[in-house]
Amino acid sequence: MKILVINAGSSSLKYQLIDMEGEQVVAKGLCERIGIDGRFTHKTGDGRVVQKDVAMPDHTTAFEQVKQALVSGEGKVVNDLSEVAAIGHRVVQGGAKYDKSVRIDEDVLKAVREYEVLAPLHNPACLKGIEAATAAFGTEIPQVAVFDTAFHQTMPEVAYLWGLPYECYEKYGVRRYGYHGTSHRFVSKRCFELLGKPDGKGTRIITCHLGNGSSLAAIRDGKVIDTTMGLTPLDGFLMGTRSGAIDPSAVTFIMEKEGLSPEEMDNLMNKKSGMLGISGVSSDDRDITAAMDAGNARAKLAWDMRSYQILKYIGGYVAALGGLDAIVFTAGIGENQDRLRAELLEGLAYLGVKLDAEANNVRGQEREITTADSAVRAFIIPTNEELVIARDTKALI
Ligand code: ADP
Repeated sequence: MKILVINAGSSSLKYQLIDMEGEQVVAKGLCERIGIDGRFTHKTGDGRVVQKDVAMPDHTTAFEQVKQALVSGEGKVVNDLSEVAAIGHRVVQGGAKYDKSVRIDEDVLKAVREYEVLAPLHNPACLKGIEAATAAFGTEIPQVAVFDTAFHQTMPEVAYLWGLPYECYEKYGVRRYGYHGTSHRFVSKRCFELLGKPDGKGTRIITCHLGNGSSLAAIRDGKVIDTTMGLTPLDGFLMGTRSGAIDPSAVTFIMEKEGLSPEEMDNLMNKKSGMLGISGVSSDDRDITAAMDAGNARAKLAWDMRSYQILKYIGGYVAALGGLDAIVFTAGIGENQDRLRAELLEGLAYLGVKLDAEANNVRGQEREITTADSAVRAFIIPTNEELVIARDTKALI
């Protein structure tokens, strides 16, 4: 059985075709600059690459490219589109309604549309991806929505509510939802296996998804009890271009001083802040470390601020969990940035964490990176959100 996994952004569409026998990636690719000029990249599991600049005015035309690439030309991987059994979509915001993945029907589409107000940058793009898939594959093919927010829906009220008038929550659903749930779910499940407790019962862990966007999740007995991202993915600690948590009054203050509209302020906090905003160098960790090594003080400051903030969250989560059994690092930075992992684990020495420096000298591989006598175990676990989406889709059809 082959499943097509779709991750649609506002101007991009990522896809993977996964053969569920052996869970192998048959092909994957990216439609970029949709609505701008259009760039298409398609790679097959056996190493063939198709790359072209092609006009993709909207998601439907982008999907046409994907369809063509799968069945014809240099990158052909299936004889007929009917070999694609189902399509699984990453949907960013599923609100409080969805705590697991679902088959897409009219009700689901309506809900995803309603949640656009909570995720104005993301949900419209997810809907475009679903519509484009339907246009390309017809209405008969089963489609599944896998929500970024779903895994976090076990959080208790004390963790997901903020101290605003209760009506803000009742009227508008203003609360913490959390994101990256698919990734936190995947790596936590693997961590439970590594701890020898596959259902997670009796464990207290913290999963650190550190990429361009980053979040932590505190997980007890296999269930999320808190996470750093909030109503939107802006909350938490310093990310590539996002500020993370700040005093909310700073928002109104800056808006007044600079005469900014809500959209402009949103843009400032989401696109111009974080590692980029503090360093003035880049949002990319590789550029930050290079600048740090070259003596750039602001790059070092950005790096130090992020470490400090992450360590504060971890400390808070250890208190919330009532102890800690394991910590997991994943995503672009978590899997590759040995320096940050070392710094964070050394900062947790007070918990009896003992870094295995040699084991930590690795990139993108699953590995335990603490010593045998460490009071808390730490693991690198590469994430695979597409595989989770494919597995959920298979299970639901
Ligand atoms: P997203 O999916 O949120 O766009 P990723 O999970 O791909 O982000 O992470 C991107 C980040 O990972 C970038 O800051 C990048 O610098 C960092 N990264 C990727 N590879 C490496 C590496 N080999 N060493 C250090 N940092 C890396």
